[in-house]
Amino acid sequence: MAKPEPKSWIYDLSAYVPGRADIPGIKQPVKLSSNESVYGPSPKAIAAYEAASGTLARYPDGGSTDLREALAAHHGIEAERIICGAGSDEVLTLLLYAFAGPGDEVIHSHYGFMIYPIQAKAVGATPIAVPNKNWAADVDGILAAVTERTKLIFLDNPNNPTGAYVPWAEIERLHQGVRDDIILVLDAAYAECVTAEDYKAGLELARRANNVVMTRTFSKQYALAGLRVGWGYGPEHIIDPLNRIRMAFNVNVPAQAAALAALADQDHLAASVAFNAEERTTLTARLMALGLDVVPSQTNFVLIRFPDDAPFRAEDANAYLTRHGYLLRWLPGMGLGGFLRLSVGEIQQNQAVCDLLAAFLRGDEGLDDG
Ligand SMILES: *Cc1c(COP(=O)(O)O)cnc(C)c1O
Repeated sequence: MAKPEPKSWIYDLSAYVPGRADIPGIKQPVKLSSNESVYGPSPKAIAAYEAASGTLARYPDGGSTDLREALAAHHGIEAERIICGAGSDEVLTLLLYAFAGPGDEVIHSHYGFMIYPIQAKAVGATPIAVPNKNWAADVDGILAAVTERTKLIFLDNPNNPTGAYVPWAEIERLHQGVRDDIILVLDAAYAECVTAEDYKAGLELARRANNVVMTRTFSKQYALAGLRVGWGYGPEHIIDPLNRIRMAFNVNVPAQAAALAALADQDHLAASVAFNAEERTTLTARLMALGLDVVPSQTNFVLIRFPDDAPFRAEDANAYLTRHGYLLRWLPGMGLGGFLRLSVGEIQQNQAVCDLLAAFLRGDEGLDDG
C-alpha cells in the first residue's frame, strides 16, 4: 500500500543527538556534556522571565524589535540587519533553507558543529567536511574545497567540539579568497568566552562585506540555553530572505524579555566570563598534570585526549565517570573516539572530575563502586 514518503534525501541524515542528561540509578548526575554555563544567567534576566508570565496570552513581537534595537546599540550596528532566532541554530538553519538546496555544496570543518551537516542535508544540499588544522578550521583546506557549487561556508570560531580558534588575520585571508557569491558564516557562539587578543567575532567584516554573516547566541556565556535565543547580523540581501521564511513568532515572549535584561547586565556577563576563563585555565593545568593532553580552549569546555590502550581509553574514562555520576561528551561518530569533551563546571565539580580522572588513571576502581 502506498504511504507518504518524505523528500528522498531525508533518510540520509541522522537527527542531532544532544549531550546526555541522565544516568540510570543516579539521582542528580552532574551534566558537563552540553557546554551550558554553570555560572547561570543574570538575576535580572530571571526576573524579566518571571515578569513575562503576566503576558503569556499575547503573541510575542514577531520582529523581536526591542531586542534587536538593544543588540544594535550595544554592538554599534544596524538593527535592520539583525535577525533573532530560537537559538542561533535557527539562524544557521534559515541560512541553509534560503540559500542552499539539492546540487549545492556547504563547507564546514570536519571537527565542527554537528548542526551544519545535519541541516545541510535537510535541505538536500551536500555537506563537505574539510579536515581541521591545529584543531581549528584550516583556511587553505577550505579554500581548496570551494567549487562552483559551493553556496555557504560555516566556520565555528571558536570551534565546537575542539575549543580551538582561528586568529582574525586568517579569517580575513579566508574572506579574501572566497567568491562574493558564497556566504561566509562566522558562528561566534563562544565569542564571549574568548580571551585571546588576536580573536574577533566578525562584526566589522559582517558590516562591510557583501557575503558575511556573524551569528551569536544567548545560550552559552549568557546562560539562557533553555530559552532559545540567538541572532545573526549581515547584509540586508542576506537577512531579508531569512525574515521572509522564518516562523512569524520565532522568539517567544519570556525569551525576548530575558535576553534583553541579560544584555543590559554586562556586569554579570563580565563576572561569568572571568569565572569561566579562570576555571578553564585551572582545569587545563590539572588535566595536563595528570598526563592528559588538552586542546587549548577559548570556549567554556575542554577537549581531553586519552591514551589509546584499554583500560585507559576515552570510552573507559567515560564509563568510569558515568558510574560516578559525571556526564561528559564522547563523540566517536565524529572521529573523536579518543577524546572526551568536558564543559567547565562549578569549582567543586571541576575538582571532582580531576580527582576521579586521577583515580581512573591510577587504575583505582573507585571510591564507592567497589
Ligand atoms: C551551542 C552552539 C550554537 C548554538 O546554540 P543555540 O543554543 O542554538 O544558540 C551554535 N554554534 C556552536 C558552535 C555552538 O556550540
